[in-house]
Amino acid sequence: MWRQLGNTGWSYEDVLPYFRRAEHQERGEDAYHGAGGPLCVSDLRARHQLHDAFIAAAQEAGHRRNPDFNGAEQDGVGPLQLTVRNMRRCSAAVGYLRPALKRPNLRVETRALAHRVLFEGRRAVGVEYARAGVMHRARAQGEVLLAGGSINSPQLLQLSGVGPAALLREHGLAVVHDLPGVGDNLQDHVNTRIVYRARNGNTLNEVSRSWMRQAQAGFAYLFARRGALMMGAAPIGLFARTRPGLDAPDVQYQFLAGSFERVGEKMHDFPGCQMTCIPCRPQSRGWLRIRSPDPAAPPAIDPNYLSTQDDKDVLIAGLRIARQVFHSPAMQQMVEAEELPGPTVDSDEGWLDHIRRQAGTTFHPTSTCMMGPQAGAVVDPELRVHGLQGLRVVDASIMPAVVSGNTNAATIMIAEKGADMIRSAARAAPAVKAA
Ligand SMILES: Cc1cc2nc3c(=O)[nH]c(=O)nc-3n(C[C@H](O)[C@H](O)[C@H](O)COP(=O)(O)OP(=O)(O)OC[C@H]3O[C@@H](n4cnc5c(N)ncnc54)[C@H](O)[C@@H]3O)c2cc1C
Repeated sequence: MWRQLGNTGWSYEDVLPYFRRAEHQERGEDAYHGAGGPLCVSDLRARHQLHDAFIAAAQEAGHRRNPDFNGAEQDGVGPLQLTVRNMRRCSAAVGYLRPALKRPNLRVETRALAHRVLFEGRRAVGVEYARAGVMHRARAQGEVLLAGGSINSPQLLQLSGVGPAALLREHGLAVVHDLPGVGDNLQDHVNTRIVYRARNGNTLNEVSRSWMRQAQAGFAYLFARRGALMMGAAPIGLFARTRPGLDAPDVQYQFLAGSFERVGEKMHDFPGCQMTCIPCRPQSRGWLRIRSPDPAAPPAIDPNYLSTQDDKDVLIAGLRIARQVFHSPAMQQMVEAEELPGPTVDSDEGWLDHIRRQAGTTFHPTSTCMMGPQAGAVVDPELRVHGLQGLRVVDASIMPAVVSGNTNAATIMIAEKGADMIRSAARAAPAVKAA
């Protein structure tokens, strides 16, 4: 789809090698997975009886068992893999940055806040940043690369005078380049849920309320590499299609042996389990704008969730499918009653009301520096900011549309591909070193 939107070099065949290059798949290499890369991907080590019941129930409801969501087919149910090595998170910092720390051409400065990109005319020449209350300037010998993520990269561009001219002038900023799309096109996977009361008191909700159980979970992790702390936040996945005729799944579910009302809130005070329902390809697009010339001030953000009828329809149908799974025999043995939204809710309006009450973010913001050749795009398919020189954006903000699964691996793919582009530009102009 990214390629079809005009982004040469970003088809599935083009990007698969970069996913493979990034990966160390503990199951071994195959056509879809790499081995030997910096990012360690491993299977879930701990299971809960509710996980097994959920997988069985989904199969009873007609979904196939899928051992690999990142393989040939996305549809089906099964455990999600984790970016974990030796039982610990293998983040980009662990997989990529730490092994590179000894390189003579790398200096990492932590607790530093970039304030703006410095320009000479339309060429980016460095970055101004604050550290421990002192302002510094880093001068680029080659290119300036922004990787602040989907919130900060557009914010920093706007603070640097690159963005919608009227907005920049409103905040007293000199306009370097009037680029209206900076901060527009924000996408995210809106996250909604259905919650059931479990029959036994052995869910994560009880762990979250008891110091004794938390201590047990800590010991189980430390000494046996088992238990609640080994499960991850979204251990079991299901991808499904809400209607016939679709080319690919349009909803993703995550099953948890625990429950809460909204993301970020306390877990329920009853034994619970939940299925979150997330649209794979939302159409809604929001925006992000600075509210002040102060780099430490949070920008205004409107994700504009559910602003198309299709996005509403997918979630309503998706939650009905989730209820079918809970009504399957294997799950009925494990749960007592539907708590959220409750069994009386069945009309489209009722489901929508429930969605509006508790929906929130899946923490997958993308597309605020959208890649493309069209008006409204911020970077070209080489990740260079349109209309400027010496400046690229290399993070989730460049996605032309949010990917149809979780965003971390896709962002690392963008970074792998961006690295090739930066290297080949540096080779073509040997006098200009990448900085
Ligand atoms: C709570 C949470 C849970 C998530 N769970 C999952 C998951 O299970 N699976 C999955 O695939 N994805 C998950 N994601 C999404 C995933 O983490 C992101 O898609 C991915 O990290 C995006 O990478 P990025 O490089 O674009 O941005 P980030 O990873 O956000 O990196 C941006 C970096 O820039 C730094 N920065 C920002 N502004 C400045 C500034 N002005 N000066 C200096 N430094 C700055 C930040 O500190 C940060 O280190 C989750 C995200 C969150 C927040």
